[in-house]
Amino acid sequence: MLKAKGQFQCTCGKTHTVPPIEIVFEENATRNIEAFFENATYVVDENTAKLVETPERRTIRLEAEGRVLATMENIEKVASQVLTDHIVSIGSGSLTDIAKYAARLTNKNFSCFPTAPSVDGYTSSVAAILIKNEKTTVQAVVPQKVVVDMNVVSEAPFDLLRAGVGDIAAKVTARLDWMLSNLLTEEPICEFAWEELRDLLNDVLENSEKVLNRDRSVILSLMKALLVSGLNITIVGNSRPASGAEHMISHSLEMYHENRNEIPMFHGLSVAMGTYITLKAYRVIFEELKLKEKCLTNEERFSILSEFFGEEKAGKFMRVHERKKLPGRVQLSRVREALKHTHEQFSEKVENALKTVRVDELLARYEPEFIEKLILISNTIRERYTILDLLDSLCLLKDFSHRVFEI
Ligand SMILES: [Zn+2]
Ligand SMILES: [Zn+2]
Repeated sequence: MLKAKGQFQCTCGKTHTVPPIEIVFEENATRNIEAFFENATYVVDENTAKLVETPERRTIRLEAEGRVLATMENIEKVASQVLTDHIVSIGSGSLTDIAKYAARLTNKNFSCFPTAPSVDGYTSSVAAILIKNEKTTVQAVVPQKVVVDMNVVSEAPFDLLRAGVGDIAAKVTARLDWMLSNLLTEEPICEFAWEELRDLLNDVLENSEKVLNRDRSVILSLMKALLVSGLNITIVGNSRPASGAEHMISHSLEMYHENRNEIPMFHGLSVAMGTYITLKAYRVIFEELKLKEKCLTNEERFSILSEFFGEEKAGKFMRVHERKKLPGRVQLSRVREALKHTHEQFSEKVENALKTVRVDELLARYEPEFIEKLILISNTIRERYTILDLLDSLCLLKDFSHRVFEI
């Protein structure tokens, strides 16, 4: 799938290595799963157990009210029960993250059998884990093998198809944020991570309706795009190619719910909301919208952070925020110049795809005042520079959060 193999010299100045992940597309793999994975201990949940028959003795079944989340509790359960040297997840985002991090903790091999085209975690080296109710991106294990059965992924629950479009639309805002950071903070940027993805992205974004109608060929493109995106993370060594402000919004929202012992919506769905908001933020810069300059005070920021995550984490995130400040004032014409081409090429397509997956319905699940607060604090949860930091430094974040639905 990736053109490059082995080691290659990248535009960022580093030498990267493409990991030897074996990716197999095989219809009806479910009928004989043992033929694909050697000496495996399978990790399933109530729903995915019905899709594949796995040997009872080597199957760890995770259960939860609602749905299984990637918590340390679940990871420890897998780590303590695994019987063989190979952990194989049968599931989508959470189960994959659980299995690959459990594999890391126990020094086992990891492979996966995706059951939905919903996230890019299948081929990525990182996992998003809840540690003490904080969403943390950790290094995990790169899979040996990914086996995709199109009969299974095409029949994934409808909301997971929506989520897949959300997580792939996010690659556009993630790219814009990476370019922005490259321009303003000199963070190195890799070109291959974008070139390999562009055509697949185009296909999925232009045909998002067909994903929801379970059109096999577009779902295949979506699955491939997600696998390439995950590989990009693995090759670069962190999630920058795949995750910008839209994921910080999503992670903030997930943490908010998890702090209250509530089940958050699927990852890709909250990412769709984050992508919608992030594109609007770019619109402020590209369309030179006149927003009111009103700075958010430290007291206001701390107060929302405390309400969302408690005072201890609020203090921590305030310090993250402090470290993100850039010296001097940014020349916006430089930003427009550098990002224009990518923005023009993709922004409308992303907007249309988000419309198709009914991002409006997702946003309407929250009060506008809540969305405002979410926008105001999402840039503090991680030291990763994004468009929200730029609006923040220009004292435009407050008015932006207030007017996001009119923009
Ligand atoms: Zn994601
Ligand atoms: Zn590079």
